[in-house]
Amino acid sequence: MKNNSIWNIEIKKDNPLKQELTTNYLIIGSGLTGVSIAYFLSQKEKDIAVIEQNELGSGITKNTTGKITYLQGDTLLKILKTNGEKVAKTYLQSQIEGMNLLVDIIKNNHIDCDFTLAPSSILYQDKNSHDDFYLLKDFLKEANISISHTTLPLNISYLKKLTVDDTYLFHPLKYLSKLKEITQKEGVTYYDDTRAINITKNKTDYLVTTNQKTIHAKNIIFACHYPIFHFPLLFSFKTYLEKSYLCAFPFATKPFSAINIDKNVHSYRTIQNHIIYLAKTKKLGFTFDDDLSFTNLQNHIQEKYHKKIDFQWMNYDIITPDFLPFIGKIKKGENLYLATGYNTWGMINATLAGKIITDLITNEDTFYQQLFNPMRKTKIKNIITGNTHQGIMFFKSYFKKDYAYITTINHKKYGIYVDEEKKRHLVKLICPHLKCYLHFNSYQKTWDCPCHGSRFSIDGKVIKGPAIKDITKKID
Ligand SMILES: Cc1cc2nc3c(=O)[nH]c(=O)nc-3n(C[C@H](O)[C@H](O)[C@H](O)COP(=O)(O)OP(=O)(O)OC[C@H]3O[C@@H](n4cnc5c(N)ncnc54)[C@H](O)[C@@H]3O)c2cc1C
Repeated sequence: MKNNSIWNIEIKKDNPLKQELTTNYLIIGSGLTGVSIAYFLSQKEKDIAVIEQNELGSGITKNTTGKITYLQGDTLLKILKTNGEKVAKTYLQSQIEGMNLLVDIIKNNHIDCDFTLAPSSILYQDKNSHDDFYLLKDFLKEANISISHTTLPLNISYLKKLTVDDTYLFHPLKYLSKLKEITQKEGVTYYDDTRAINITKNKTDYLVTTNQKTIHAKNIIFACHYPIFHFPLLFSFKTYLEKSYLCAFPFATKPFSAINIDKNVHSYRTIQNHIIYLAKTKKLGFTFDDDLSFTNLQNHIQEKYHKKIDFQWMNYDIITPDFLPFIGKIKKGENLYLATGYNTWGMINATLAGKIITDLITNEDTFYQQLFNPMRKTKIKNIITGNTHQGIMFFKSYFKKDYAYITTINHKKYGIYVDEEKKRHLVKLICPHLKCYLHFNSYQKTWDCPCHGSRFSIDGKVIKGPAIKDITKKID
C-alpha cells in the first residue's frame, strides 16, 4: 500500500528562478487554478510567468478526487440556505457553464486525461437529512435539472438518491500537465521551487521577494490556494479548512461518482479499475489522529468490499463563509487578483477562475464577477459560525499534548523529533502565520498547524502554506 494519492504521473520539474525577473503578469501557484488562469490569459495577453513553491500540482490538486460535476455534495444546499434561491440558481448555472468550458478545453485540445462521461449521484443515508434531501430535490426540479434513474454500480447503502447523467470524470494531474504544456507553447514561463515570500508596491509595479530571485510584476494573481497575505481580505478569519481522508481500492465497474449530504461525508468515484473512497472529518483540527482515521478507512473497505487499499492519502480544502468561491480583484485600484475558496469543488471553479480573471484583466464583462467578488460583504453571522472553530482551535492548540517531544530553551518551547537513527530535529513550535501552536503529525512526520493547515518538515521547512517562513531552529 502506498501512502500517496492515486494521481501519480511523472512530472518534469522546472528550474527555480535564477535571475531577477520583470514580467507583466505573475501567477503564484501552479495547481489547477494557476495553470487554468495561465491558459485563458495566454490567449489574450503576453509576458506571463508562474512561480510554484514545490512542483506542478503538488498542492491540493494532487490529492483531489477530481470529479467534474455540478451536483456538488451539500454545497448547493448550503448556498441555498445561506444566500437564497436566486444566488443558488446562479451558482448552479455557473457550474454548468464552467463544466462545459472544461469539457471544451479537453476536447478542443485533444487532452488525453482518462476523460469520461459518468453519472453523478447525491444520496442521503441518515434519516435526519430527509428534509434537506427534498429541499435539494425541489430546487433541482425548479432549475430544470433532469434527474435520471441510472443505478449505482457499487453496493452503497442509502435512503434516496438523485442522479444526473451529464457529468464527467478525469485524471486531474494528466489534465494539468497537458494544460501546462499548451500554455508553455503560448509563451508562459514556469519556475519551480520558487516561493513568494513578500510583496511590496513600487511606483509602477509590485516587487515580489521569493526564496530565489526578486520579481517585478505589473499584475499579480494569487493562485496559491491559501493567500499569503492577511490584509485586505482578512481571509484567515473568514474561512476555515476541512480535512478528508481518502483511499483507492481495486474494483472494476462502470464509471460513476456519488456523494452523500449527511453529516459524515462519504464520497466515491471510479478511476480505471479502482474506486476512490473519501471520508470527510468535520473541520481541520478536530481529528489529529491520522493513524486511527486511516485504520478506520482500511477496516471499512475490508468489511464492506473485502478489498485491501492500494493508496491512501489526506487533503484539506478551504470553506468560505457563504460557500461561494473568491475569484476576482482583492482591492480597488490595485492589480492584485485572487482565485480560491472552492469549498471542495475546484475542478470547475478553477476553470471558471481562469475565464473570470482573464475577463477582468482584459476589461470584458464577467457575468459571475459580482457573485464571486472577493471584496463582497460577508455577513458577520456567517463569519462567526465558521470561525468559532478557528478560535477554539487556537486555544486548544496550546493545550493538546501530542507533540513528538517538547523542550524549553531560554523559557521558550521547542518541538523535537527524534528520528530512527536517534538524530534530534529541533523546531520552533509556533506557526509563523497566526501564532497557533503546532502539532506533530506522527503519520506523515510533519509539524502541522491545526488552525489554517500550514505544514512543516521535521527540520522546520514550510511544506504547505499559508505560512511562508520556516520554523527551523539549530541545535547548539
Ligand atoms: C479531499 C478533497 C477532495 C476534492 N475533490 C474534488 C472533486 O471531486 N471535484 C472538484 O471539483 N474539486 C474537488 N476538490 C477541490 C479541488 O481539489 C481544489 O479546490 C483544487 O484542487 C484547488 O486547486 P488550486 O490550484 O486552487 O490549489 P492547489 O492545487 O493547492 O495549488 C496551489 C499551488 O500554490 C503553491 N503555493 C502556495 N503558496 C505558494 C507561495 N507562497 N509561492 C509559490 N507557490 C505557492 C502550492 O504549492 C500549490 O501547488 C477536492 C478537495 C479536497 C480537499
